[in-house]
Amino acid sequence: MRILIVEDEEKLAGIIARSLKAEGFAVDTAEDGARGLELATTFAYDAIVLDIMLPKLSGTAVLDGIRKKNRQVPILMLTAKDTMADKVKHMDAGADDYLTKPFAYSELLVRIRALLRRAPVQSVDIIKIADLEIDRLAHQVKRAGRRIDLSAKEYALLEYLALNNGRVLSRAMILEHVWDESFEALTNIVDVYIRQLRAKIDEGHQQKLIKTVRSVGYVLSAGDV
Ligand code: CA
Repeated sequence: MRILIVEDEEKLAGIIARSLKAEGFAVDTAEDGARGLELATTFAYDAIVLDIMLPKLSGTAVLDGIRKKNRQVPILMLTAKDTMADKVKHMDAGADDYLTKPFAYSELLVRIRALLRRAPVQSVDIIKIADLEIDRLAHQVKRAGRRIDLSAKEYALLEYLALNNGRVLSRAMILEHVWDESFEALTNIVDVYIRQLRAKIDEGHQQKLIKTVRSVGYVLSAGDV
């Protein structure tokens, strides 16, 4: 899942990005409101963390711009202000949640997970495909009842494939959702991770779930492709 952080305090943005990446999210950051709005309306994010006091364009204006474009992405607003009036104003304007600085990163993570659960397309907590089971809240994966340990990136890749069960995904789509913008897209990183994932998910099982679609990409499916 891919998350956008719009925050001008470099240090804070860096810490949030690192803690989310450690949880297996792909993370993009924008250091001002204009860039934030541009990214938010260009890429498909699963959630956005949006500061209110931003250079170039305020968080309030960014929120407005995103909702005007009809983007339904969940948005968590960050602010130093703590007045009820502000909170009500932003919730009315389409923010989904609100966190007052300073906050604990664990709290931010809990809020983000809650937002992701609430989002209509992400409403499934446990994905089952054949004998593969993915617990999206605990980030745990089982095949035929046996626990499989995955790295954060392997998990993110598997989850993206599983959410698109039966749908062929190109390398570009996978790169966009699982890796972030800063990543050099001209590598064979997707193939490398698919290979690793296959070794963990499919090896030793008669039924192979991860399939290659020649010259197109990959699909996770219990059936024939
Ligand atoms: Ca700020």
